[in-house]
Amino acid sequence: MSRQALDELKQQIPLLNYLQAHNWQPARRLSRGRLMGLCPLHEDHKPSFLVDPHKSLFYCYGCGRGGDVIRFAELYHQVKFPDALALLQQWRGLPSLLHEVAGFYRMQLHRHSEAIAYLDQRGVRTPEVIEHMRVGYAPGGCLRGWLRQLGYPLQALRQAGLVTGAGYDAYTHRIVFPLEGNLYGRSLSATAPPHRFLPGAKRGLYPEVILVEGLFDYAVLWQAGFHNVTCSMGNHLNAHQYRQLCDLPRTVYLAFDADTNGSGQQAAQSLACRLREQGMNVRRVSLPDRQRSAGQRLPAAPPYRHAHW
Ligand SMILES: [Zn+2]
Repeated sequence: MSRQALDELKQQIPLLNYLQAHNWQPARRLSRGRLMGLCPLHEDHKPSFLVDPHKSLFYCYGCGRGGDVIRFAELYHQVKFPDALALLQQWRGLPSLLHEVAGFYRMQLHRHSEAIAYLDQRGVRTPEVIEHMRVGYAPGGCLRGWLRQLGYPLQALRQAGLVTGAGYDAYTHRIVFPLEGNLYGRSLSATAPPHRFLPGAKRGLYPEVILVEGLFDYAVLWQAGFHNVTCSMGNHLNAHQYRQLCDLPRTVYLAFDADTNGSGQQAAQSLACRLREQGMNVRRVSLPDRQRSAGQRLPAAPPYRHAHW
């Protein structure tokens, strides 16, 4: 890549935007617009990460590392320079591409009765929750043509992981939930792998306090009127989600599903301990077992047991 192209890339991706997209928040403001916050490159307990948004440079007084947005991408994703460039180029084009893709899948949802039937079976029924979560469906076969028409080159679709090497829609026959910077796809078929994400970090912790493991748990609770739900996308929190959850003193209700082998409950217990150490008030919610008789159906509880998400 030429010097000029490098400068262009850096200009198009201000360091502060990239940091914020990776959940970094300043803890305080210094003179000349500079910001100080926790270092995303190591476990940091008091803010030691200095950002100069005007110069698009960072320096950490804790780990002694610093540089521009490319250096940050290298360190944060633990990749070499050329891969950091590829990641940044991809990230620059990704939000608009994902916006188009999510819109396309949403249009398809109501044209495919198998998708609506699946949502219904998972307890996701009201138009409001489908609208709120921007739920869509990937019927397979037409995404690529649609995006080519909009001017996206096939290479970009492959790079983003939307289209397979063979040119097929990677989310075919999946219910799709748009996330910040990613898409979650749940397969309708029992033979395909159940969960799919685009390569890259699973992001998108919602900012409130009933913590559930999966997006279907989230949908069912939201539909039942609990709008302060947040989703951990699994029974462990990554460092960023953990930090976000602990940024204010809160009461966190852990509503993790009961596994047959108890792994979900064990994870919930250890997470509860860690949150309490951070001064959080933690309550564990025990979810009722699956009700087999339709007459006993509990709409506020996920109507399934062993499959998360
Ligand atoms: Zn550091």
